[in-house]
Amino acid sequence: MTRPAFGGNTIATIAIPDFRPQMATVRPGVMQKLPRNREAKAEIIDFDAHLEKNNRYVEILDVVKKVSDYVDIQDAKILVSGGRGMQNKENYEKYLRPLANLLGGQVSSSRAGVDQFGIPKELQVGQTGKTVRPKLYIACGISGAIQHLAGMEESDLIIAINKDETAPIFDVADYGIVGDLFQIIPILTKMVEQELAKKAES
Ligand SMILES: Cc1cc2nc3c(=O)[nH]c(=O)nc-3n(C[C@H](O)[C@H](O)[C@H](O)COP(=O)(O)OP(=O)(O)OC[C@H]3O[C@@H](n4cnc5c(N)ncnc54)[C@H](O)[C@@H]3O)c2cc1C
Repeated sequence: MTRPAFGGNTIATIAIPDFRPQMATVRPGVMQKLPRNREAKAEIIDFDAHLEKNNRYVEILDVVKKVSDYVDIQDAKILVSGGRGMQNKENYEKYLRPLANLLGGQVSSSRAGVDQFGIPKELQVGQTGKTVRPKLYIACGISGAIQHLAGMEESDLIIAINKDETAPIFDVADYGIVGDLFQIIPILTKMVEQELAKKAES
């Protein structure tokens, strides 16, 4: 197994050669879903747990419903994600939101965006955020720290925009654009808009 250790500062490989069975848990989004197999059959074993009727094994004291204002980024097929390079929260709305809306996706963030600009924690991708596996992940002004990569590197297609050509995000990116995101994102948004208009015409 490979898992973060020492508060996420290192990744440890754990081998358990001697003991069986072994058990491990994985976070949602880590594994790719297999297509449904309708032919599969499972053995049904009747098991008597000796539960008695009307016995109160669980007592519900209160039901607290937390309603989130945000769509779960783990369900999004396309994520346009921002990091410290976005400079402030307003720029997420000004630059990332229009592109995400055009593509039918959601906005997400690195932890720097959450800690520094007040982006909601629910939108954080990474080891202490959410693990995502969208079809397209556009990383804007995100350096690609190991804790961030842990949450998004299994995305189908990764596009990184960063002014630093040595940023580690480019190691996992399928396409990289080196330059100022404040110039690149509006151009990209315009291009997507034009392509969508062309498609709608034809
Ligand atoms: C225990 C632990 C858990 C953590 N969990 C997480 C987690 O869940 N998720 C997470 O994201 N991080 C997590 N971190 C933090 C992580 O180590 C990094 O600090 C964080 O990911 C950095 O965020 P960032 O890439 O947005 O910022 P930075 O590393 O500061 O990168 C900003 C990038 O923006 C680029 N940039 C700046 N201006 C522009 C511009 N105008 N145009 C283009 N590019 C520009 C820079 O070149 C730079 O590469 C964790 C850390 C620890 C220790």
